Amino acid sequence: MKTVKTITEVREQVRQWRKEGLTVGFVPTMGYLHEGHASLIDNSKRDNDRTVISVFVNPMQFAPTEDLESYPRDIEHDKALAESHGCDMIFNPEPEEMYSENFSSFVDMTVLTENLCGISRPIHFRGVCTVVNKLFNIVKPDKAYFGKKDAQQLAVIRHMVNDLNMDIEVIGCPIVRENDGLAKSSRNTYLNGEERQSALILSQALEFGKALIKSGEKNTAEIISAIENKIKTQPLARIDYVKIVDSETMQDIATLDRNALCAIAVYIGRTRLIDNFFTEDIL
Ligand code: AMP
Repeated sequence: MKTVKTITEVREQVRQWRKEGLTVGFVPTMGYLHEGHASLIDNSKRDNDRTVISVFVNPMQFAPTEDLESYPRDIEHDKALAESHGCDMIFNPEPEEMYSENFSSFVDMTVLTENLCGISRPIHFRGVCTVVNKLFNIVKPDKAYFGKKDAQQLAVIRHMVNDLNMDIEVIGCPIVRENDGLAKSSRNTYLNGEERQSALILSQALEFGKALIKSGEKNTAEIISAIENKIKTQPLARIDYVKIVDSETMQDIATLDRNALCAIAVYIGRTRLIDNFFTEDIL
């Protein structure tokens, strides 16, 4: 497995693979890899001849008040994990390689980015769309793999690819969880022992919501309120949002009359965690 830091090196390698008639899958990440990321690599390996992963903590998607500086990084661990899953190349650029001093072009999206995480993180998706667009232009993959863990991001990327006619297939992959139900996340490392235990309230509250839906409840206000009440039983938890939205448009819906996403963002202490489920995956 190769680790490269420049755009030129990525392009040379991918060009070589293309000459050999090989297909390329791509997994964009911010590193500190765990089994959730590994599952994306596994999916890409299954579908493509070669797999590229990027490890880049993208400054543009963090607000000044957010955790850009403290975001966990360990490229040696990432290399070992990626290699053990058969990844062919890691692209690990410095911020200067991605953003020149006079960088001034952005990919901005309305509507889908204005709900859910877009409310408390108003510049986040502009950073995500811009960097993913750049990475797609650098790697030029056939297929790109994203986790349903970041469900709004997945919907936003699918929408961008469609709006801008990008010739890339976007594949959404299931959420990988710890044995006790907590969705794997690089940010789980911020949690101390007590917070780690309290964080179980996210998946537990979602399970509660799933059970209501399976029992036939269609009124989203009722389901949201039941999930909120469950989360409020945990003293260390503070709700950012609990929402049920249309799976594609990310707009709130009043009745479960179509495919929907139930998404939550909850602070456990100072750490903001997200989790969700799609109704089409449970019904
Ligand atoms: P990140 O490094 O957190 O930006 O995540 C990179 C990619 O891995 C995104 O597409 C995430 O949705 C995906 N991912 C992160 N955690 C998980 C998880 N627990 N299960 C599945 N995919 C995940």
